[in-house]
Amino acid sequence: MFDIAGLNSQYIIAVDIGGTNIRTALVHENGTIITENRERTPRDSSPEAVLGVIDGLMRQEEGYARASVIVMGTPGLVNPDQGIVRKSGNLRWDNVELARMAREKWSRPVFIDNDVRLHTRGELAFSPGTKDMLVVVIGTGIAIGVVVAGKVYTGSHFAAGEIGHFTVSTRGLVCGCGKKGCLETICGVRSLSQSYRRCSGVGAEDFPARLVGGLATHDACAIAAWKVLSQGLAWALSAVLLGSILKRLL
Ligand SMILES: [Zn+2]
Repeated sequence: MFDIAGLNSQYIIAVDIGGTNIRTALVHENGTIITENRERTPRDSSPEAVLGVIDGLMRQEEGYARASVIVMGTPGLVNPDQGIVRKSGNLRWDNVELARMAREKWSRPVFIDNDVRLHTRGELAFSPGTKDMLVVVIGTGIAIGVVVAGKVYTGSHFAAGEIGHFTVSTRGLVCGCGKKGCLETICGVRSLSQSYRRCSGVGAEDFPARLVGGLATHDACAIAAWKVLSQGLAWALSAVLLGSILKRLL
């Protein structure tokens, strides 16, 4: 298991490959973000097309040349030791040797992991003394990072924290995983912003900020979206917490 704190590079290129956006950042080892770039995830989300977009983003700033290590996060099941994305419903990837492909493209060490686990590693690195923690990340997908006894828990099949596929409804669109009613198809940002647009007739660009602003002004459509989000998350997180309580009792 790689250790971000032990990468031994003053600057790191951080890459977030999401279902909606691809983001790159040049980050100092003290956590300071030097520069950030963003591009929409291409409709053709093949690994080659995605790496091409990342290459374009890295060429936008000379600073990226200063980093000697690349760290990439993707949604889905990722084996960080082998550098393989086992399955990503959002990107429609199966067994993609992403670390090898990126290493060959940029001739630099590349470490990959599930995006939410990377987020959790970052939170843990800057939260000294934290032993147990859940990091809830809501984007196109929804997942949690699980920290137990000071370590990020991956699970035996690298699926720990994949609560986005908990069934929380009998309605909703068919999920990338093939099921219906998954938490992220009901409460993910894309789904919530679409229902907000249907309710308000207003475009839902920058939806998270619009949601927070709408709650402050008692916008009925924002409140309706918030209720869907909070109810779905409450059901999923209560199942997670019940599991951890039962583990303690048994
Ligand atoms: Zn699903």
